[in-house]
Amino acid sequence: MCLHPELIPPVPEITAKVAKAAFPKGNKYMRLRDELGAFYQDEEFAQLYPNQGQSAIAPWRLVMILIMQFLENLSDRQTADAVRGRIDWKYALSLELEDDGFNFSVLSEFRDRLITGGSSQQILDKMLAKFGDLGLLKSRGKARTDSTHILAIVKELTKLEHLEETLKSALNTLAQVAPTWLERMVSIDWYERYGQKVGYSRKTRTAEEKEAKAIEIGTDGFYLLDAIYHETTPDAIRQIQAVEVLRQVWLQQYYAPTEGTVLLRTEKDGPPNATRIFSPYETEARKSIKRSTKWTGYKVHLTETCEEDLPHLITHVETTVATTQDSTVLPSIHQALAEKEILPQQHLVDMGYTSAQLIVSSQQEYDIDLFGPVAVNAQWQAKEEAGFDLFSFRVNWKRKVVYCPQGKRSQSWKNSHDAYGKPTIHIEFHKSDCSSCPVRARCTRAPVNPRGLTLMIQADYEALNNARARQKTAEFNQEYSLRSGIEGTISQGIRGFNLRKCRYIGLEKTRLQHTLTAAAMNLERIYAWLEEIPLAQTRRSHFEKMAHRKLAT
Ligand code: SF4
Repeated sequence: MCLHPELIPPVPEITAKVAKAAFPKGNKYMRLRDELGAFYQDEEFAQLYPNQGQSAIAPWRLVMILIMQFLENLSDRQTADAVRGRIDWKYALSLELEDDGFNFSVLSEFRDRLITGGSSQQILDKMLAKFGDLGLLKSRGKARTDSTHILAIVKELTKLEHLEETLKSALNTLAQVAPTWLERMVSIDWYERYGQKVGYSRKTRTAEEKEAKAIEIGTDGFYLLDAIYHETTPDAIRQIQAVEVLRQVWLQQYYAPTEGTVLLRTEKDGPPNATRIFSPYETEARKSIKRSTKWTGYKVHLTETCEEDLPHLITHVETTVATTQDSTVLPSIHQALAEKEILPQQHLVDMGYTSAQLIVSSQQEYDIDLFGPVAVNAQWQAKEEAGFDLFSFRVNWKRKVVYCPQGKRSQSWKNSHDAYGKPTIHIEFHKSDCSSCPVRARCTRAPVNPRGLTLMIQADYEALNNARARQKTAEFNQEYSLRSGIEGTISQGIRGFNLRKCRYIGLEKTRLQHTLTAAAMNLERIYAWLEEIPLAQTRRSHFEKMAHRKLAT
């Protein structure tokens, strides 16, 4: 099978000859190169080299090298060695046999350029565009999305260690950048407290000692910040990142009710995890918890196609901090897929991504059927079999009237807003109807007041009602079973591509890591598809299989 031979740029003759002798049956990179040709053009990355002209190594090659690095989970040094020494890499990269490669530091410098040049996303987008041209990807099919937690490169610190490390980090940077200024500001006892390898905070034992140390560290930190923000201090010192981190952490952890008093905030008084800094060396990682999993870092959302007759390709990667809710990410996933012109017709997701508003907006803005279970009704009336929940009432939207299960007509219909500003409608029934109602106990627990209802706007109400009805059908269960394939993709990412752990520090670099991982996984999948290697089935435990059989009957 040859997909597009005319797109293949020439591999040097001698490289091709030696590679074919070394791999008479071919190998992964050689096959991909022969079948797919080049994904990237230098001009697509020209903006990364605005001042000094082009890099000594062609940008298209550097992008491919980064993807191949992720395909094999190599370090930068190992990657540079592979470019220098492996014939299949030379073949894939069209390098002369005697090409002696580059210093490994080039890779880190190129990654920085990709991030500052805003070109990270292009790596996956150009690849997908090529797959689209080759007929391996189509829009308006089926897609599925799920997320997983990502562990930041960060040591778990106690509160006291965190405070000490933050102050030490600021002192270390000041000692490098402004040593003379720092020497003038600190007394000799600071060197004893913060200049030792073993943490000053680790020598404490009891809770009282720990609190006293925290206050002492806090007082020192405030003294340093006062000096930094004094009018005679050069402005450049205030621009140092570690200084800004110190300022933020001190704001989050301490307060000063009166001048000269420093107090530690309690956990309850502190900022939410979404804004709280947990390490001075990884300031963007956040702590979160999902069911039994607690972690510090990020979250990645993978979206992939799931057509029966085409390779399953990752079409979008969204990396967020750990505290971001799945549902808030869905609109940006749809927007990104729309920009790439690969929107699905049906998008299979779990309950974390569904809500009445998202079902409606997905349909109205992108013509997508957001296909997943919606949250169960949390009202007590819905939990009790005989109770009258919201959907037991009949709504006449035109006349702005609601009829209760006893056939009584509502008394009032008022437009309102919920705590998040979403429009709602407040309904109330007649007191006289409810007080004499023979089934009142099934409807309201209010001792005196009549039954009241809070309705969503019509489109949301109907979408939710329809989704709830749909998810009770056997057809739903059958179609929805396709979603579980994304769990296999996440598992492949974790086991084969080290997706679970950050390779780099910071959100943007982690985003680049995930984009490169997705590009590498796509190449692996295309290769498996070319080689007709069957897809691995999602593994199920014996009990899961039994549950599946029982639930299907
Ligand atoms: S309590 Fe009021 S709203 Fe509820 S069923 Fe009885 S009459 Fe209708």
